[in-house]
Amino acid sequence: MAKDKEFAARQSIIDACLRLERQGVNQGAAGNISLRWKDGLLLTPSGMPYDVMTPDDIVFMNMDGSYDHEFAPSSEWRFHRDILHARPDVGAIVHAHPIYCTAFAICGMEIPAAHYMIALAGGPTVRCAPYATYGTAELSELVLEALSGRTCALMANHGMVATGVDLREALWIAVELETLCKQYATALQVGTPKLLDEAEVAKNVEKFKNYGLRRKTRAA
Ligand SMILES: [Zn+2]
Repeated sequence: MAKDKEFAARQSIIDACLRLERQGVNQGAAGNISLRWKDGLLLTPSGMPYDVMTPDDIVFMNMDGSYDHEFAPSSEWRFHRDILHARPDVGAIVHAHPIYCTAFAICGMEIPAAHYMIALAGGPTVRCAPYATYGTAELSELVLEALSGRTCALMANHGMVATGVDLREALWIAVELETLCKQYATALQVGTPKLLDEAEVAKNVEKFKNYGLRRKTRAA
């Protein structure tokens, strides 16, 4: 029974990777996904195409970063581990390099409250973490800062990260964030976006606590 549960958790990570690909949110095998599991995390292996990935290929990592597996975990394991460690409200993390999120991240721009769906971020902006080399502790710290009080963030010259209480929510936020970025990019081309004020965003953040796939209330 316990084994079946773990098998299902591992398969859900592969399914989420394939969904990211189908929805055009991922670029190549750049995306990686983690899920809180027991005292550690389950994480996609480094550089493996999703269509050949099997549940056994998913790496279990302890919170100290150690693992016992034939494959190395994603080279971006550090911020996955650090977010799960620092944020008890987070149960799953999706990281990818989607075109529109990454375009804003390349410009070092944050996403303002151009649409009420910004509320899924948990505040009036989606911040952009400053650039640091991938896989480093420095990047992990910057990403954690950008995620303070938020569910998602852009990562300068890199991509995005979305968190959720579970994998379904993290995936939903990842897809919606790319949609927000696409809408905002298009709005900037057709005119001058009118932004919602902070009070309106705060109202929507409250409403979002019972919206869509959210089944539990976030602690942060
Ligand atoms: Zn990346």
